[in-house]
Amino acid sequence: MSKDKDKNLTRKLVRQHIIDLDPYKPIVPLDMISELIGIPVSKLIKLDGNENPYGCSPRVNVALTNCNAYHIYPDSSYQTMCKLLERYVGVDSENIIVGSGSDELIDLILRLYLEPDDEVINCGPSFGMYPYCTAVNNGKLVEVPRDALYNVDIAAVKEAVSKRTKVIFIASPNNPTGNVTPEKDILELLKMGIVVVVDEAYFEFYGISMARLVEKHENLIALRTFSKWAGLAGLRVGYGIFHSNVIEYLNKIKPPYNVNVAAQIAVVESLADIDYLMGTVNAIKKEQARLIEKLNEQGILKPIPSVANFVLCNAPEGKAREIKELLESAGIFVRYFDTLQLKDMIRISVGKPEHTDALIEALHRIGGASND
Ligand SMILES: *Cc1c(COP(=O)(O)O)cnc(C)c1O
Repeated sequence: MSKDKDKNLTRKLVRQHIIDLDPYKPIVPLDMISELIGIPVSKLIKLDGNENPYGCSPRVNVALTNCNAYHIYPDSSYQTMCKLLERYVGVDSENIIVGSGSDELIDLILRLYLEPDDEVINCGPSFGMYPYCTAVNNGKLVEVPRDALYNVDIAAVKEAVSKRTKVIFIASPNNPTGNVTPEKDILELLKMGIVVVVDEAYFEFYGISMARLVEKHENLIALRTFSKWAGLAGLRVGYGIFHSNVIEYLNKIKPPYNVNVAAQIAVVESLADIDYLMGTVNAIKKEQARLIEKLNEQGILKPIPSVANFVLCNAPEGKAREIKELLESAGIFVRYFDTLQLKDMIRISVGKPEHTDALIEALHRIGGASND
């Protein structure tokens, strides 16, 4: 009886920008889909999350099984992890802050800089968390679309900067387009004195980072993650490289125990097993070349070049959704976009060779069916 009344009361009390917020659309969990389409989870082929199909380092599984410290809070300064990252990244451990995925750091950065209605520049098509976290933090999103080849339009970004612009997000390699923004372009933007966040979630697939420049440029932030290359997406651990002046304030607002003990152990073991993990990265890169070749040969989905672990493809006009759904009923999951900037496009994460074969085979059947 009081349900409507409660809802109205809540509506009156909740902050207006949260009431207006579009929720983030996460990937549907596999077990739910499995039930929906009647194919067991073990048979599903998941190419929609840019995850590592080989999983994490086996050392992680052993260490987590043997851990007897789950009842103890983690070290809130995460010194062990930051010291190991110091060596891995090549920057001082004092310049590193870890997060519950780099997603958390995106939010923390915006909390640090945004007053209500301050502006954030997004160069779409790009990662959905930038617009989403901007809205959560009551900022104003300013879209500066990429050009026809998905390069960031540096001149347009500079023109879009106003007195209220605080942060510019640039994913490089970019998700979902797979291309990079050259260092000289980022340096050009840094001159404007606004925070430039270079999101390097796919660094390990590309190999070039701007992290070493953070010490020289107070307004440069580099973000990294263990989700994509290290197979730890489910444990949620990322990190950022920040100038020491920024670290001081960021540490004030960072939740003290934001990375859990299991994730911490997983990072230690992953960084002790880099050769193994980079072996899987190389297998993914090799498979990417084969996937692109097969798709081109077949001619239904047309891939565009990518230096990350996924490929964005053009589908025949008006067919992207249908292809996505037909693949889904065959147990193969890809990411389909339905925006003005990404019309008729599908993003495919690179899987194992057998995943590529199943995808090509399913596309072949679909191609045949729609010709009938
Ligand atoms: C996947 C992804 C992330 C998220 O990483 P988490 O560490 O899992 O939160 C961040 N940025 C980009 C561009 C991504 O594609």
